[in-house]
Amino acid sequence: MNIRFLGAHNCESSTIKLVTLLIDDTLAIDAGSLTSSLPIEAQLQLKAVLITHQHYDHIRDIPAMAMNALFYETNIHIYSIQAVYDALATHWLNGTTYANFLEKPQDNPRIKFTVIEPNKAVRIGGYDILAVPVNHSVPTVGFQITSPDGKIVFYTGDTGPGLADCWQYVSPQLLITEVTAPNRYEDFGRKLLHLTPNLLKEELIAFQKLKGYLPPVVLVHMNPRQEKEIEAEIALLAKELDASITLAYEGMLLQL
Ligand SMILES: [Zn+2]
Ligand SMILES: [Zn+2]
Repeated sequence: MNIRFLGAHNCESSTIKLVTLLIDDTLAIDAGSLTSSLPIEAQLQLKAVLITHQHYDHIRDIPAMAMNALFYETNIHIYSIQAVYDALATHWLNGTTYANFLEKPQDNPRIKFTVIEPNKAVRIGGYDILAVPVNHSVPTVGFQITSPDGKIVFYTGDTGPGLADCWQYVSPQLLITEVTAPNRYEDFGRKLLHLTPNLLKEELIAFQKLKGYLPPVVLVHMNPRQEKEIEAEIALLAKELDASITLAYEGMLLQL
C-alpha cells in the first residue's frame, strides 16, 4: 500500500496544502487539496473519495473536481456519512455559487454520493473500508482501510480527545491522526476537539493498553505557524513512549 500525503496542514499557501491522503493512486481520503495537488488524469483515476467530515479544509476541492468530471465526461464517487451529504447539498453544492453536481446534469449527476454507516464495513475497489466515529465538533468518521494484500491503515480525520471507543474497532499497522496545535493550546484542543502532543499521548497510551501494541504514527493537520513547536514536543513524546511518531509533509510517500 502506497500512501501519499497531498496535503498535511490545516491552512493553505503556495507551499502547504489542506489535508488530503492518496492510497495507491486509487482512493483519496478528504478533499482539501485534491485538485490543487493532482493533474486531471490522476483525479480521473480515483475510484473513490472518502470524506471524514464536512469542514471546509476537508471538502474544499469537491466542486472543482466535479467541474473537471463534467468536462471529461466522467463521475466522482464520494463515500461518507449522511451529515456530510447534507452539508454539501445545503451549503457547498446548493446551486447558488456553483452548480449542484449532486443533481446536475439531470441525466448523469457528476457526483455519485454513497452514504455509509459507521462501523459497517464496505468494499470499495477491492479495499475493505470501515468508517469509525471519532470525537470532533461535527459528526466525523475516521477510516480504516485494508488493502487486498492485507495492509491496514487507520486515519482518524480531525479529532479531539476521547478515542477509547474508536480504538476497539481498529487494528492498524499504521496510524494517521492529527495534532493541530502545541501543548500550550490544550484548552483550545479540549474545547474545539483537536489534539495537542499531550492530548495525543493519552490516546496512544489508551491504544497500547487496549491493543497491546503501538503502530507507527504519522501526524497531519498541523497549524504551520506553530509547527516547529509541535515538532519539538512530538520528538519528546516519541522518546517518552519509545514510539515512531512523525509529522507528515506535502508530497511525503509511505509504503506499508
Ligand atoms: Zn474539522
Ligand atoms: Zn480540519
